[in-house]
Amino acid sequence: MSEVPENFLFSQSNLQTFAYCRRRFYLRFVKRLVWPAKLHSPEHEQDLRAGTFFHQLIHQHFLGFDQDSLVRQASQDNDPRILQWLSAFLQSCFSRLEGEIFPETSFTIRSGSHLLTAQIDLLQIKTDQHIIIYDWKTSRKLPSVETIKSQFQSQVYPVVIAFRLPLNKYLPISMVYWEANYPDQPIKLSFRESDLQQAKTALVQQMDEICSLQADEFYRTAEIRRCDWCEYRSYCDRGTRPETDLSTDNIHDYEQIIPEGGTEPWG
Ligand code: SF4
Repeated sequence: MSEVPENFLFSQSNLQTFAYCRRRFYLRFVKRLVWPAKLHSPEHEQDLRAGTFFHQLIHQHFLGFDQDSLVRQASQDNDPRILQWLSAFLQSCFSRLEGEIFPETSFTIRSGSHLLTAQIDLLQIKTDQHIIIYDWKTSRKLPSVETIKSQFQSQVYPVVIAFRLPLNKYLPISMVYWEANYPDQPIKLSFRESDLQQAKTALVQQMDEICSLQADEFYRTAEIRRCDWCEYRSYCDRGTRPETDLSTDNIHDYEQIIPEGGTEPWG
């Protein structure tokens, strides 16, 4: 019998967690254990809060909130980055999208016995039927295109949209990552139909594998440095204190940089 609960909701976040460390996936999503160690350093916590607030402001923008009130909210925040990010966003072409717009929307597909979900910052269906998925980021360091492509988010989101929308034929799908700290360097990925079919097959294989594992096959990562950032360290006998240095490159190899719902430093 599978360790993974029936009707488990797979997402880019928990798939990324599995890739990061099988045991972490097991403790968090199968055993649902409480997190015994402090999750993040104060700086990291501040990044999470700022990223979440920024996402809320953008969401409000697309819901039609008055721009002045958004700027006022941002300027009253203790973190000056909020106003800086919002100003950059409002000046960008991404604040004036046309066509059908779906901000902060969840989409879920069933593939075989698996459920796969995507919580999308913004979905745009243009009048020419081109679909664009937008993701707003607040990274301290601009990730490379290769890093972006390799993350589950860049597979799960387009696959869920491609196989979720009631379309009779393939429509072009692109994904745009817009970094608030690098507003002039958006990263755009485009997907052909064959890319999406291939990505979907790989995702199903991954979900099949996870559901086939026995408890002892959710083993600890061999990359011990990853444990520095993990709240389950005390369960794994790999230390008890959180990492504090956010300036190192290793944060970009950290599964939490691409979270569900935009609540991590990358979010
Ligand atoms: S402490 Fe290390 S081995 Fe344990 S769950 Fe976290 S990343 Fe995995």
